[in-house]
Order: sequence, then C-alpha cells, then structure tokens
Amino acid sequence: MPDSHLPSADSLLSVAVDALGGSERQGQITMVKAVQQAIDDGDHLAVQAGTGTGKSLAYLVPSIRHAMDADKPVVVSTATIALQRQLVDRDLPRLSEALGKELPHEPTFAILKGRRNYLCRYKLTAAWPEEDEQDQLFDARDVSATGRMVQRIQEWAEETETGDRDELVPGVSEQAWRQFSVSAQECLGAGRCPSGAECFAELARARAGEVDVVVTNHALLAIDAMGDLPVLPEHRLVVVDEAHELVDRVTSVVTGELSETTVALAVRRVGRLIDQPVADQLMEASEDLKALLAAAPPGRVDELPEVLGLTLALVRDSAARCLTALGPRGGDKDDPDRAGQRKAAFTALDEVHDTAVRMLEAYGHASETDRAEVVWLDGGTDRRPPTLRVAPLNVGGMLRDKLFGDRTVVLTSATLALGGSFDGMARQWGLGDDDWQGIDVGSPFDHPRAGILYVAKHLPQPGRDGLPQAYLDEIAELIEAAGGRTLGLFSSMRAAKAATEALRDRLDVPLLCQGDDSTMLLVKQFAEDEPTCLFGTLSLWQGVDVPGPSLRLVIIDRVPFPRPDDPLTSARQRHVAAKGGNGFMTVAATHAALLLAQGTGRLLRSQDDRGVIAVLDPRLATARYSGFLLGSLPPFWRTTDPGVPRAALRRLSSGD
Ligand code: SF4
Repeated sequence: MPDSHLPSADSLLSVAVDALGGSERQGQITMVKAVQQAIDDGDHLAVQAGTGTGKSLAYLVPSIRHAMDADKPVVVSTATIALQRQLVDRDLPRLSEALGKELPHEPTFAILKGRRNYLCRYKLTAAWPEEDEQDQLFDARDVSATGRMVQRIQEWAEETETGDRDELVPGVSEQAWRQFSVSAQECLGAGRCPSGAECFAELARARAGEVDVVVTNHALLAIDAMGDLPVLPEHRLVVVDEAHELVDRVTSVVTGELSETTVALAVRRVGRLIDQPVADQLMEASEDLKALLAAAPPGRVDELPEVLGLTLALVRDSAARCLTALGPRGGDKDDPDRAGQRKAAFTALDEVHDTAVRMLEAYGHASETDRAEVVWLDGGTDRRPPTLRVAPLNVGGMLRDKLFGDRTVVLTSATLALGGSFDGMARQWGLGDDDWQGIDVGSPFDHPRAGILYVAKHLPQPGRDGLPQAYLDEIAELIEAAGGRTLGLFSSMRAAKAATEALRDRLDVPLLCQGDDSTMLLVKQFAEDEPTCLFGTLSLWQGVDVPGPSLRLVIIDRVPFPRPDDPLTSARQRHVAAKGGNGFMTVAATHAALLLAQGTGRLLRSQDDRGVIAVLDPRLATARYSGFLLGSLPPFWRTTDPGVPRAALRRLSSGD
C-alpha cells in the first residue's frame, strides 16, 4: 500500500519535470499513475509508450519512491548499452538531484553487469590456462591485432577505476578481452581469490547492494532469476525497459553450444591437471565432432543421426571421465594459481558435458513438434567453426516461474502492442490472462500530420534473387526528392550492400553502409551531415536515434519476416501449427510486426520531426496479413501513390 509520509508519485513527477526544464506530457502522467498502481497492487504491468513520452522518468519516479518506501533497491533492466548509458549518465543524475529535497535522501544508483564485463585483476597477474592458444585458429593479422588490444587492456588496467569493459574506448575484440576476464563459474570467489578484496566485479556488486536503483541488462536479469545463486541484490520490483527484446536476450542466455573450439578449450584447460590418456580421449572426441560438423548441412536437426548421437555420447562420456580425473571440487586453498586452473577446467568441462547431455535429451520420446528444446547446426565462417546449438522452444514458462514468480515486473517499450494487442508479447513472456495489465499511453507526436507511410504497391514482390531494378530506381528517386537524409533499413546485409553498390555512383549525396566503419561512428556521421544517407540492417532498425533534418526518409526494403530456415522461429511456428494455432501469424507475422514498428519508429524522434516512411514491399498493402502489420504501426498518414511522398519530400527538403 502507498506510504503516506512520502510525496505521491505524480507530485514527484511534477517536481522532476520542473527541475529538468520539461513540460508535463499526458502519456507520461498516465504512465506514472499506472506504474504506481502496479507497485501498490503487486500486479505485473506492460506499458507501451511511444518515443517522446518520457517513459524513463515515468517509471523511475515511482520506482525510486518504492525503493525508499520498501528500503530495497529497484532493478531496471535494459537491452542496449545505449539506454543503460542514458539512464546512468543522464536521466538518473538529474532526477536524483531534482528529487533529493523531496525524499528522505538523494536517490542513489549504480550499474551492474555480468562478471565477464569486468576486468579480472587476478587473471591479469596470475598464471591462467592458455586461452590464447585459440589464436592458432586465426590468421597472423588477427593475432597481431589481438596482441595490440591485449597491450591496450594492460595499459588501461593501470588506470581504470571500474574495470568496466564498456569504458575501454575504442573497444577490444572478444578474443582479447577473454584473456582478462572470467565468467561467474570460473571466478575463484572473493574469499579465496588473492585479488578478491580489490576485485572490480565484487566492488560493483557491493555498490549495487547499497543503492536505490540498480541498472542492469536483460542477460544478467535472466541469470539472476534463473540461476542457483542470486547475482542482483534482493529486490521486489523490476522494470524491464526495451521489453520487446526480453525473450531474445533470455533465449541467448540459455542457449547451449558445442563445437571443436569449445571441446578443445576444455582439453587445453584440463590437459596438465590430469593423466594424458584421459585428456586424449576428449581430444579424440573433439576431432570426431569437428569432422562430423564440418560435413553436416547447417540447419535444424529434427532427427538425431546415429553417428551424431554416438559422437555426442562420446563427448559426454569423455568429459565425464576428465571431470572424475580432476578429483573433488574446491581444495587448493593455499595455491590460488592451481585453484584457478582447476576452476577454469571444471567450468569448461561442465559446459561440454552438460551441453552434450542436453542435446541428447532434447530428442527424448516426444514427437518432433512437442519437444521442449530445438537443436540446430550453425554453419562455420572464416572466424568460427560449425557450431551445434540447443535452445528452448519457448522461454515463457521459465520467465513465468522464475522472473515473474515473486516480484512485481513492469515491462515497457515503444512497441509491445502488436496488431493493437499485448497478447502476443504476454504469451511469449509466459503470462496468463489474469497475471497482468496492459496499457498504451500513446505518443506525444501527431503521426498523421508529421509522417507519411507510403507503400509502393506498384512494385513487384521481393524475390530471392536480390533487389529488383525497380526497387533500386524507387530508392534513388525517393532519395533525390529528399535531398539525401535517408536511413535505408534492409532485411539482410546482402541487400544493404547491393543497394549501396548500385546507388553510390548514381546518387550525388554521400552514401554510407553498415560495416564501412563502426556502427556508432556511421550513425554519428549520418546525424552530423544532412545530405548523408546510411544503409544497413538489423541493429539500425532498432538503434538509431537521429532527431532533426538529417533524417527525413526511412526506406524499408521488405516486410522483415524471419528467414524461413531460421531454426528457432521455424520450430516455434511448427509447434503452434501442430497445436491447431496459426503458426505464421503467431510467430512470423508477430516478429515482422515488431521489427516494422521498431523500424518506422526511427523517423519521428522529436516534436518537430517530419518525413516519410517508404516500404517498397507491396505485401504491406496487399497481403491478407497486412491489416495486422499496419495495426502494429503508429497512425501515419497512409498512401500508395508514388507521387505523394516525392512531393512531400521535395517540400520538406526546400523548407529545411
Ligand atoms: S574474485 Fe573472481 S573476478 Fe574477482 S579478481 Fe578474483 S577471480 Fe577475478
């Protein structure tokens, strides 16, 4: 129940808005009240809040109030580092200062990430198993580049106060970072570790235990909720921002993988700690696995081929023998180096053993469509060997039991109500009809006046053979009318590159393509130079925030359905269909609706923004599912007349 001695959440919001120099927005006020109500009633809440609502303030104010009231931290989880930074560097410092006088103390906050994100002081100095033998898999240029990064990490280690990888700019490769970080399983534990007293991860955790708001990411939230040991401080309220990403992030956390690399790593780590013949058996199993995966076709593995079953059993059994040979866990109290080496070996072996067991059990006795887990083979690339993966068909059950079980969860994003309903997302989160409330607090933007949604109904349907010439002509004409200022969102990197190649010489405005440089730098260049255009794929659909005249046109090449051969979505679709549901609408169309809503959301980022969204795929106007997709988008003014967007863009271009 609300505590009378604290000011109400809406009065705190007005104080905050006044102090921050903003104006009250109806959607924001509605959201504050809804979040406060959810906290008071202990109900889960899903809030769709369009760009410009000021949603972070709308959940932070009642959350901070709750933290003071309950004397327990609130956990705020984000999917992206960009939002994490915005909360910690901008929103929370300003809000804390603004609310300090109204509350018993100035609200405090901290960021907490997984252990792998912090420099491990012990690994920096200790004799650790030879991770860098991995370099042998890569060519000499990569090895020397990694060497330079390693040196940069060592220099940075002398001066960093947090050990947080994200503060190392420019960033370093995973390969280099791995040599100075440990997973939670590999960590010796602060009590046994010689560097435990000054451990960056431990310091971050201790700090998180003392503050009102802990900012974290979806992966750590999932690990905390699903793992055996808590990693976040005890809390009763979680706010999941960018909640449309929750299911994918949680699925990644619980996906297991096996490849020649993972098994060979376990062999290297255990090599000098046990009798050679026992380690050799695992090495042989790794060779068998390598040969088998190299020869197998990528894709879902619905039936377990006998030879794969035998190889997985061999991997499992030889890993088990290595584990036995390593002896009891723990021990080595007086020899931290040896303890570290054994811990690292146990971790790698456990992972290999448990994943092989999990893959074999995935086939169980259930029919193909009823299995709880999906196994598939990802083909290899120049940098990564073929990898066998296993992931749950759905994570809803896990989320319901572990995340939603004994706390109040507020989920928010600009896109949650797909086809006008929250049901699709709630189903993915594992929430039943009575478990939650959903509210759409709208958007402060006047979509029908500020933006045109143009569907190029006259164009052919997109095919498998790249972008048709008619698409390229349409893109060129629209960009010319807009005077550049275009964000091109393509459904594949191949299409983005093909369009860039075909149009670079044809257009007289600069054209950047994702991959030319780091995405962050490309977006910066795009934002700073008005005529510049930027083409790219998935991360641009969700991550670009460029208000003002640099972005007047968003082009989307096709309705972003998942690839038909995507193992997880295709298995999910098949499962729904086998249960009598509409697999296409429940899985593929829902996925496409979410991405389309995210992509179109790039256009209007501030009150004065104007522009056009051009979807080249005519199916958005003609297909039977188009109503569902259009119902998931903001209410832009719609047209299929090619003249309308061109005229509007020319007008905008001459007015800017
Ligand atoms: S406690 Fe763990 S993470 Fe921290 S320095 Fe020691 S081994 Fe590394």
